[in-house]
Amino acid sequence: MKIIITEDQLKRVLLKEENNTLYKVKELDIESSGFDHYEGKIILEPGENKKITISVRTFIDKPILFNIVKVSPLITDFKTVNTGKQSAVIRPNGFLDFEFTAPKTKTGTFTAGFTFSYQIVGSSTQVTKSINIPFYREGLEEKLNACKKNMSWKDYYDAREWWEKWLLHPSTKDRFAKTFGYDSKKVEEIFEDYIKKMGQITIQYVDSNKPNPGWARPAFSQIFINCRLGQPSVLTWIHEIGHILDDVHKFTPDSGIYNFNFLISHYKQETIERVSITSAEESELKKKIISYGFSESQAGYILGNYKRMLNTDIVHLHAKTELVSQLFEVRFELGLKPNEKITVQKLIEKYRPLSSIINTFLSQWLYTGKSLYEFLNYNNSIAMNKSTDTNRNLA
Ligand SMILES: [Zn+2]
Repeated sequence: MKIIITEDQLKRVLLKEENNTLYKVKELDIESSGFDHYEGKIILEPGENKKITISVRTFIDKPILFNIVKVSPLITDFKTVNTGKQSAVIRPNGFLDFEFTAPKTKTGTFTAGFTFSYQIVGSSTQVTKSINIPFYREGLEEKLNACKKNMSWKDYYDAREWWEKWLLHPSTKDRFAKTFGYDSKKVEEIFEDYIKKMGQITIQYVDSNKPNPGWARPAFSQIFINCRLGQPSVLTWIHEIGHILDDVHKFTPDSGIYNFNFLISHYKQETIERVSITSAEESELKKKIISYGFSESQAGYILGNYKRMLNTDIVHLHAKTELVSQLFEVRFELGLKPNEKITVQKLIEKYRPLSSIINTFLSQWLYTGKSLYEFLNYNNSIAMNKSTDTNRNLA
């Protein structure tokens, strides 16, 4: 006798190892589509209207009367695929498929199921069983919990340790004292506050369509992690901790090389979000970048980043707190010790076209309109407001 089976039936036979079995006895088994047997549940996407197929297969040379007795109130459309009814006779060694929609609005872990009975035709025994199918759908709360659970605390603590080292280094305190004209007692007090503030940091988890992996609310010592963008990097932590600490006492004096009159007259659009530059300005800037030893292609990437930031993220080009946080990201990226300076050579060596750290720093430089040496001197030697005095190196 030739047995003809459909492709779907064949697949079911072949994929038997997949193990979607919900119930199994000698004469029949019941499987569910979408059942993840590693997780032991059906995983649903947020908002997904997932169709679940329940397949009954019989292994006996007699027909079986199969009947759905009761369905969980969470399921409203449980029916056989072929007839739309809740009961049917399954032919010998046959199949019967039911279908329903997974509960749409439930999130987290929940179960939904049904009670069925079956009877081999000609037998007086009726078997009744209930099956509860575990589901899991990630809702906002679950997403944020998972984000918290999967957080790599190593990166966070590495960033804190890096800051601690910098804060506790005598040369840092020394330059800080000279920058602001404080005696050592006052400096000690402020630096104790820095360390204390770092200990008060709490992490908040949010799901946001902002392009930022994180942000800070310094007054409340809070760092917000944008779970939609995944794990924050150690540099993100360095950056955000910088914002928090900056709130205790500024790291840089108020005056500096940022000539905003220059910027206003140059771009004429300082107050709006978007700024663009002409192609003539662009080729001038490219020449300028190359003149410091960057390659033509590096200059292209740096300019590309600069134009993107002018267009979409002007805040990070001039907000003082952003400049400070970026400076520390660059120092971390370059692996500098507290008493080492950022040099053009180090920037060129460590430059990577697709990494935003040095790109952002160099874009901040381009935004000042100053020479790269002036910019580095400003960042390297904020002490005493002497931009040419690189001996007192706060950064
Ligand atoms: Zn920032």
